[in-house]
Amino acid sequence: MIHTDSHSALNHTPLPAIYPLIDTHTHFDASVFDNDRQPQTQQAYEQGVRHLVLIGYLQRYFSRLYETQQAIEQMHLSEDKDKTDRRDVYPVAHIALGLHPFYIEQHTDAHLSSMAQMVQEQRPLAIGEIGLDTYTDAMKQPEVFAKQERFFKAQLDIAVRHKLPVMLHIRKAHAEALALLKAHSYDAHKLGGIAHSFSGGEQEAKAFVKLGFKLGVTGQITNHNAKKLRRAIKAAVDNYGIECLVLETDCPDMTPIMCQEADNISTGQSNSQSAAGQSPDNEWQGTDGHNRNVPANLPWVLKGLSELLDVEPEVLAPQLWQNSCEALQTSWPYPT
Ligand SMILES: [Zn+2]
Repeated sequence: MIHTDSHSALNHTPLPAIYPLIDTHTHFDASVFDNDRQPQTQQAYEQGVRHLVLIGYLQRYFSRLYETQQAIEQMHLSEDKDKTDRRDVYPVAHIALGLHPFYIEQHTDAHLSSMAQMVQEQRPLAIGEIGLDTYTDAMKQPEVFAKQERFFKAQLDIAVRHKLPVMLHIRKAHAEALALLKAHSYDAHKLGGIAHSFSGGEQEAKAFVKLGFKLGVTGQITNHNAKKLRRAIKAAVDNYGIECLVLETDCPDMTPIMCQEADNISTGQSNSQSAAGQSPDNEWQGTDGHNRNVPANLPWVLKGLSELLDVEPEVLAPQLWQNSCEALQTSWPYPT
């Protein structure tokens, strides 16, 4: 365990020394990246991102995940052709398949069975994002919530059947999610898993870690007004050490505060709640080019976390890498 009570001059450290990082949660397949995905992929690499995970949320976009993964593989291949001295300049993209609770009304049983089939055939890296979300009143309606629970359980069953980790999306339903997970045979201590973009309180943070999940930390950690989040992450670390955390951009959402346009900051607005949670068919059209989050912003999340915990980034980065590998049940070697 790393103790976080020592003091340092982290707040004055300018960005950044670059560390190898894993972006555990992206929507980099979104159409908002269609015009500049190649340079963005390269920039992500230049900022240290070595692996990124493309996360599923609606069945009709599953093919887009694979197209994006192939497009990134293609970048590697065309790079190799021009170079005798082989050197990667792009991160490796991985896929999670899942039906997101926010879009529950759009999911059908046919989607669930075709997903089960795809998991069987393709063996994705993980199942996700799945979970419970009662952000709006409509989603609290008993029949809507019951459908969320049914799809959540069915996808946990798929994860158990294939021994895959899950990516949880839980919003305003932490107690219900914890109860459901405790009753289910999914064991995060064995299969891994991430509570992505964790948004609960201190007790809930600790409860998810106790179940074996890592907490996904986004650019929201850079917002000093996000007091509940910062307290929850700190409480989890005080109890369980920095071993309980992983990083994610959740791009194009959750833009770190220093990467947002000055206008939005001064008016107190933020685009950090715009996408995968809130506007089902909006496809991030409201996310303008300047405020769109990108995988290359991940070092800002590392910096924000480093400042919050008062742990140097060079200590944090390798531990976060190891945490991500544990949560995703992989053994990617740490680049040296
Ligand atoms: Zn997401």
